[in-house]
Amino acid sequence: MGTHTPRRILVTGALGQIGSELALGLKDRYGADNVIATDIQPDTRKKLSSAVPFALLDVLAPEAVDTIVQKYRVNTIYHLAALLSAVAEKRPREGWDINMGGLLNVLDAARSNKCSMFFPSSIGAFGPSTPLDGTPQDTIQRPESMYGVTKVAGELLCDYYFTRFGVDTRGVRFPGIISNGTLPGGGTTDYAVEIFYSAIKEKKYTCFLKQGTSLDMMYMPDAIKAAINVMEADPARLKHRNSFNVTAMHFTPEMLAAEIRKHIPDFTIDYRVDPMRQRIADSWPNYMDDGAAREEWGWMPDYDLAAMTTDMIRVLRRRHEQGLL
Ligand code: NAD
Repeated sequence: MGTHTPRRILVTGALGQIGSELALGLKDRYGADNVIATDIQPDTRKKLSSAVPFALLDVLAPEAVDTIVQKYRVNTIYHLAALLSAVAEKRPREGWDINMGGLLNVLDAARSNKCSMFFPSSIGAFGPSTPLDGTPQDTIQRPESMYGVTKVAGELLCDYYFTRFGVDTRGVRFPGIISNGTLPGGGTTDYAVEIFYSAIKEKKYTCFLKQGTSLDMMYMPDAIKAAINVMEADPARLKHRNSFNVTAMHFTPEMLAAEIRKHIPDFTIDYRVDPMRQRIADSWPNYMDDGAAREEWGWMPDYDLAAMTTDMIRVLRRRHEQGLL
């Protein structure tokens, strides 16, 4: 896409944890007329439809994807519709169908309509044989969850559409995303969001991962920044495309609890481990090396553990005081 062509953006799965905030970030950057938000569910709570055009779209219907791309003269697609790790592990066949079938339909629409495409991969694209400390950009990827299988296949498919058909596909491997807008949709890192709601409401939290489980995490404003910046990056500088390791912090549940205690001194945490999610978490990196993203398109997060915790507590405390939690 030429530098002077305005972006016209389709977001799939836009009512989810990431999409509901990313769609608004894209609106701020490119204008409300240039973002079309879609999801398989109706926007009953007017989360997005009060700010940007909203349409129902099932990514498993290829003609519908193509039609909406043409109707809105879309040239960039943020493809977020997917089943997350814990959900796909419970319903693996559906996880494969939605994650792979949806991606293929969107890639074909991008190909025939000359669109750029953003695909979010995940720390779930790694597995137990991956080096888990300082996980390199290019390394062993043999995940054991259905979610991870679809993310590795998705990364490869996006690269294939670039090399074979010239589709401008790009992506990042998101870590656990922490946010206070929409609740997470059934991932392994959901604890790092739930803990804040429980801390504000009840001053205690029962964690489904055990002490010592280190995972990469990122605050939502940084996730939005990564998704926008990788798509705006100068293609001449990109040695990688799908997908860049990006991280902002890594911590264990007890480290997060200690940080929360700086704001809520009588907060307590206990543990009731969910074996399925613990197994997934144990197979994911303790922390990633995101040097390639820093080098190739200037990735730099704004929020560390302390800054993220302060902001989460400020926002949720205010909402709690207003009776909105
Ligand atoms: P989410 O589960 O909160 O939202 C997904 C959305 O997709 C939902 O609103 C759902 O209604 C929609 N959807 C499901 N099936 C659909 C279909 N057939 N057609 C259209 N829409 C459909 O997920 P999220 O956390 O916002 O994640 C978005 C993307 O980012 C996913 O690809 C996910 O794998 C990836 N990701 C998320 C995280 C995280 O921590 N949230 C981390 C790494 C990667």
